[in-house]
Parts: sequence; structure tokens; C-alpha cells
Amino acid sequence: MSKKKGNIVVLGAGESGVGAAILAKKLGMNVFVSDMGAIDERYRDELEKREIPFEEGQHTEAKILKAKTVIKSPGIPEKAPLIQKLRAKETEIISEIEFAFRHTDSTIVAITGSNGKTTVTSLTYHVLKNGGLDVGLGGNIGKSFAWMVAEDPHEFYVLEISSFQLDDSYKFAPYISILTNITPDHLDRYDHKMENYVASKFRILQAQKKTDHFIYCGDDMETIKGLGRFKIKPNAHPFSLEHPVDDGAYYDSENERIIITIDEESMNIDELALQGKHNTYNSMAAGMASRLLNIRKETIRESMADFDALEHRLEPVMEIHGIEFINDSKATNVNSTYYALESMKKRLVWIVGGVDKGNDYTSLIPMVGQKVKAIVCLGKDVQKIHDEFENVVEILTDAQSMHDAVAAAYKLADKGEAVLLSPACASFDLFENYEDRGNQFKEEVRAL
Ligand code: ADP
Repeated sequence: MSKKKGNIVVLGAGESGVGAAILAKKLGMNVFVSDMGAIDERYRDELEKREIPFEEGQHTEAKILKAKTVIKSPGIPEKAPLIQKLRAKETEIISEIEFAFRHTDSTIVAITGSNGKTTVTSLTYHVLKNGGLDVGLGGNIGKSFAWMVAEDPHEFYVLEISSFQLDDSYKFAPYISILTNITPDHLDRYDHKMENYVASKFRILQAQKKTDHFIYCGDDMETIKGLGRFKIKPNAHPFSLEHPVDDGAYYDSENERIIITIDEESMNIDELALQGKHNTYNSMAAGMASRLLNIRKETIRESMADFDALEHRLEPVMEIHGIEFINDSKATNVNSTYYALESMKKRLVWIVGGVDKGNDYTSLIPMVGQKVKAIVCLGKDVQKIHDEFENVVEILTDAQSMHDAVAAAYKLADKGEAVLLSPACASFDLFENYEDRGNQFKEEVRAL
């Protein structure tokens, strides 16, 4: 690692900001960390241990405005007055992934998209690790990229990347980029314009070279529209459930298997640990990335078959008196709930609700009519769910706590049916976050 002097300010001291600061310090840069809120004790310790100067509860503008480069944590919005001032001064503002990328030569697989990022990232990592590669897992999940580059370097990195991270990236060029899909989310950060959000997602490939690879969903309308709008330099590989594709992956529905057509020779995968249409997409994406990195076909097949379901994502909890309980607390938007309902084979009681980010439930109505026996509305404001579904299902009942929601669902479900928590909403009305919501669900189920 080269030693470079420079005046760097890191804004935000979470996983990403602290990782960036550690890397900057290691590179011999003059770094200062500033956080408007209180810094988590764990991260404060890490900064102190390495004698990295920082402040919390304030931004000392005089100091920050002198920076040559500012590394901005993804949580800080572009509209923040301090960012506006830095822009006016034309200070270089970059993301932590951009910064880390500038200081490593390792091979990167980067995954972005509206839904499925964590699943594809974890599954790809699982296959590459089983394939014997020296690989690190990070980005939005686990360790930040910069932190790994500084203190836990690997030859390969599999990174989950949010659009906020991409917004301040310029040269970040993964060898393989994966765009899982694009559906409306976080539009408040993009002036409520879908095209801005789409443009942000496509930044994942803006710096990729001709020898790099871009994996995308060939069935996703917004992605297809984007392909026409942006210049695509890397080799593009679609995956599709709807039709066979060359140089990509598709689902052979007759034989219920995935076919990867990336080499001259195609490969079949007929046993997938992750079930449901959405997960078939995810498996195709991860399978292609692994194949592009020359992982043996047998290893890919085995790893796809023995991957454990991730917590809070269609996670089977337990069966009680023949009723299956499933935790999909991570479904914080309509699209992810769509796929959860789609994957359900049994009749079910559906627990839904929370903080609605402007949901349009129309796409769910046919499936709810077919599969859902009763709805338990969980949250402070459940009127919209009533309005949307009262003519679709016979029973709608309200709950103000997870305890009441689980008790009501248990009462309504019969043997051979399922209870699915897939809220389609954020969790901040009654819970700390989606993990807390999912954990409370599991505790209440286990206490039945
Ligand atoms: P992310 O990291 O993008 O939020 P996750 O893998 O954590 O995605 O999954 C989030 C939610 O979306 C879960 O409820 C999951 O069941 C659902 N999901 C996973 N993959 C997809 C996909 N390809 N398309 C739509 N929904 C998906």
C-alpha cells in the first residue's frame, strides 16, 4: 500500500465511515472524522485505539471545509447544508467504496438492486468460498469494504452496494457487477424521480471496462429501459425466467432447472436450496458470477443446494400443530412481499403493515385473493390495508403488538396452512428495525 499524504475528512462514523478512516490512517493520510450524532461506543473505541481524531454531536465547518477530499457516509443526504457548502467549494466528495477501490487491486464482485442484494451477495460469497478462493464478504453487510482493504485484505471481495454508495462513486469498477432488479424504493432521496434512482443503480457499471462483466435481470422492465439509455461497456449477461438466453442464464421450466450458458458448454442446476421465483433469479445471478470466476461446476451445484436460508428472508421458523410459521420481516416494500406470496404453496394467514412508504398494493390483489385466508394488520396506521383488501379477503383483523398479531394469526390458521409475516412496510412504528420485528415474531411463535 502506498503512503500518500492528504487532508481527508470522513463524515459519519458508522461501519462505513470508520472503515474509511482506518484505511486513510493506514495510508498515512491526515484524517479527521466528524459525526453530527453520537458515535456508537464500539466505533469510538476503534478510532481511539488507532489515534484517529474525531468529533461527535457537531460538524466543525472551519475544519471540514478545508479538506481536500471528503468521504461521505451513505446515510448523509446530498441536501444536507454542509454537503451543499462543500459542493459550492468544489471539494472532492466520494463514497467509502470509491475510496477503498482506489487502494486495492483485488477482484471485485459488486451487487446492487432494489431487492435481493443480501441474498445474492451471501450466496455468491458462499459459492466462491467453497470454490477455494480467498474471498471477503462486505459492503452493506458485515465489514465495510475500506476496513477489509486496510486490515483484512483478500484476493476477491463480494460486496453488497447500495445506491447511496454509488451516488458518490466515479472510478469504482468491479470485475463483475450484478444488478438484481429495479423497483421503486427510497425515491425520497431521488427527488421522487424514478429515472434518477435508475441512473444511480446503473452507476455500478459506469467505470467497468470491456473485459469486465455485467449481470442483469432480462425480465426487469426498468433495467431493460436503462440498457437503452446508458452506454454499456462490459460484457452483458442477462438472466431470465421467461425465455432462453445466450451468454447468460435462464430457467427451463419443463425440467425445473437453471441453465447457465456462459461458456460454450451449458450447465444445469436442478437442486436449489432457496425456493421461490425471486430466489431462482438470485441463484441464476450468483451462479453466473461464480462461473465467470471459473468455479467448478460441481462446486457451484453443491453450494447452491446446501446454502442455508438467511434470517428474516422467507425464513422458516417452526411448525406448530401442522401450521407453518415463516418470517419474512425483511420484506419492507411491496415487490419483496409480492415474491413472498408468490412462493407460498399453502393457504395462509398474512401479517402485514408498518410504516407505508407510499405503497401501491394493486399488484398483490390477485394473489391475495387466491392464497390468503385472513389478514392480520400490524401497525399504527392500518386504514390503507383495510381499504385495499377488505373486498379481497373475508377476514381482516388489527393488532398493535407482535404478541397480539401472532396470537390472532395462530387462531385464524388451520392445520396444513401457513402464517407468513411479510409486512411490505418499514418497521419503525412499533419496532427498532426489521431485525427486531423478525426476532419478536420468532419469540412469540416459540412461546405459543
Ligand atoms: P436487499 O438486500 O436488496 O434488501 P434481501 O436479499 O435482503 O434484499 O431480500 C429482501 C426481501 O426481498 C426479502 O423479503 C426477500 O424475500 C425479497 N427478495 C429477495 N430477492 C428478491 C428478488 N430477486 N426480487 C424480489 N424480491 C426479492
